[in-house]
Amino acid sequence: MNPQQKVKQTIRKYKLINKSDKVLVALSGGKDSTLVGYLLYKLGYRIEGFHINLRLGNYSIKCEKVVRKLCEDLGIKLHVYDFKKEHGSSMCFHRITIQSKKSLKNCAVCGVIKKYILNKEARKLKASKIATGHHLDDESQTFLLNILKGALQLSSNTGPITKNIPDKKFIPRIKPLFYIPENEIRKFTKMKKLPVIYEKCPCAFDSYRLQVRKFFEKLSNKDKNNIIKNFEKILPLLEKNKISKINYCEMCGEPSRKKICKRCELLKLKN
Ligand code: SF4
Ligand SMILES: [Zn+2]
Repeated sequence: MNPQQKVKQTIRKYKLINKSDKVLVALSGGKDSTLVGYLLYKLGYRIEGFHINLRLGNYSIKCEKVVRKLCEDLGIKLHVYDFKKEHGSSMCFHRITIQSKKSLKNCAVCGVIKKYILNKEARKLKASKIATGHHLDDESQTFLLNILKGALQLSSNTGPITKNIPDKKFIPRIKPLFYIPENEIRKFTKMKKLPVIYEKCPCAFDSYRLQVRKFFEKLSNKDKNNIIKNFEKILPLLEKNKISKINYCEMCGEPSRKKICKRCELLKLKN
């Protein structure tokens, strides 16, 4: 089955998108999100692109360029969020200030802030779903990482669609590439000559995930599929123990599991 057929099947199996949905695709410039944008367009869904320029030097310039090219080629609307313009400094500057107060991995800071921006901006743009490029390798790694951290319950927030309690402030996130291995994505995007930056983010060098990724290099796609099958078996059990109510952050008013959202917890460290 090719990636397009797999995505079609995943969308149908998990009812990821309705024809009335307006899907905002989080485009980073990398192969995964580029493929999501390309395939959702091919399948005829109503999509718009959203790119966060983190201002990570030359890397960010190249990323924005390929995202613009993809959206031009497909004829879809693109929204660019300039991190420096909105926050007064680059993501790196922001992150380093936070890390000077608490030892946190680069992606742990950046990831939380990006997720926050994405939900808030998607709401402003009246999108009903956010699509991201998470694939089979990412998802099976996350499942395994949660086991290794002794925090399996965290996996209840993963899966092809984030099944939070419906809330007007929370835009559901979908992962159309959930069953597609990373090597297939690379092969397909190269074959289709899609505009993609294949180099890694210059800040992604210290995460625990990198060690798990090394271990994953030894696994076959079948092994990764089996990990995901196990995840799907226990997901209903995990969901039973999930919190049944979404709170709003006391500082910013955005949806949050705790009194203060993760992003505001990080920003508090800066002060
Ligand atoms: S790889 Fe990590 S640091 Fe780089 S953009 Fe992604 S989350 Fe941010
Ligand atoms: Zn907050």
